Amino acid sequence: MIAAAPKGMRLHIGIFGRRNVGKSSLLNAITRQNVSIVSEHAGTTTDPVEKPMELLPLGPVLFIDTAGIDDIGALGELRVRKTRQVFDRTDLGVVVTEPSGWGEFEDRILAELAERKIPAIVVFNKTDTRRPDEAIVSRLAADKIPTVQTAAVSGTGIVDLRQALLDAAPAEFINSPTLVADLVGPGEMAVLVVPIDKEAPRGRLILPQVQVIRDLLDGDAFCMVVKERELRAALDRLGTPPKLVVTDSQAFLKVAADTPPNVRMTSFSILFSRFKGDLLAQVEGAMAVDSLRAGDRVLVAEACSHHPIAEDIGRVKIPRWLTQYVGGKLHFTHVQGHDFPDDLPEYKLVIHCGACMSNRREMLTRVMRCRQAGVPITNYGLVIAYSLGIFERALEPFPAALDLYEALKHRKK
Ligand code: SF4
Repeated sequence: MIAAAPKGMRLHIGIFGRRNVGKSSLLNAITRQNVSIVSEHAGTTTDPVEKPMELLPLGPVLFIDTAGIDDIGALGELRVRKTRQVFDRTDLGVVVTEPSGWGEFEDRILAELAERKIPAIVVFNKTDTRRPDEAIVSRLAADKIPTVQTAAVSGTGIVDLRQALLDAAPAEFINSPTLVADLVGPGEMAVLVVPIDKEAPRGRLILPQVQVIRDLLDGDAFCMVVKERELRAALDRLGTPPKLVVTDSQAFLKVAADTPPNVRMTSFSILFSRFKGDLLAQVEGAMAVDSLRAGDRVLVAEACSHHPIAEDIGRVKIPRWLTQYVGGKLHFTHVQGHDFPDDLPEYKLVIHCGACMSNRREMLTRVMRCRQAGVPITNYGLVIAYSLGIFERALEPFPAALDLYEALKHRKK
């Protein structure tokens, strides 16, 4: 298993609000676990409760559930002090209130967050019983503070809250820290396989290849770049086997055949699934290929608007391989750039490119929208590896993804 993210790397989300506005039940609804005491009586949460978790699609976060800071009395003062310390380590503040409960207290929390330049989200909880005051909602909108309406007990609005957290999270927590450098250490060798065919632009490499080379150099690793035909000869010449072979997904089968079994192998787009998107969600998405039936609609999305050529991977090769795999005609729709359709439930599968031109927030939002619509999403490299029967091989460098695949495969049986 991949080691858990250190606490300092996690996005710290402080949950603030008066006693008994439902902070704990909100946290439970997000995490789907009982992490703090939920009580009918005001102020049951005595200490800030920390809950580290993987919040899809954001990644590792630490929720800090505060005690009510409007408390009075000696015990209350202790709570107030502890809650104030939470501000010091909060990257993103969530202010929870009841629909009719807005007052000076909530304004004070927002002011404190603003003063510290901490982004904030306001959650009106318990909206199953009444609506929030329109005047307050408009004022917050004018101040550019996002608001979400929830009923934590029934789970209403929790998906909206996840999206709001993703939208408001500071960029440094959205940008995945590593592309490949964690897989190939200083002084170790990676071999990159770059087919120079009709699809390759003249006189240059494409961005995912350039970024992988740069990441390896930044990590003091060695890097050899070869075409697929020369791979075996290049490997034979190396005194020590490389730590990793990374190939363009289109050459997967040949590269898998030419790379010795003791050398790990993956593709550029699988590296980018982890770097820009959500590898685990997209691994699960690739397995949805088995549920495709003739006549189903498949969306192919590319994050840049390159001009399609004769043997285009998204328009020709993947549709051809998938049609063969399914054994019947599928209906493919293609979108490019920032276009992403609203009618996602119409599709049985979304296949995305590596998204090297997108920022991670945009890609994660797409993963989230698919999840919301109940449509699996995967990416080029993953779907190719799956349909060619080399999925496990291509996931070997990512133990968590391999574990998930094994578990899902087991469940399918
Ligand atoms: S954005 Fe997508 S289609 Fe465009 S170069 Fe990057 S991976 Fe390829």
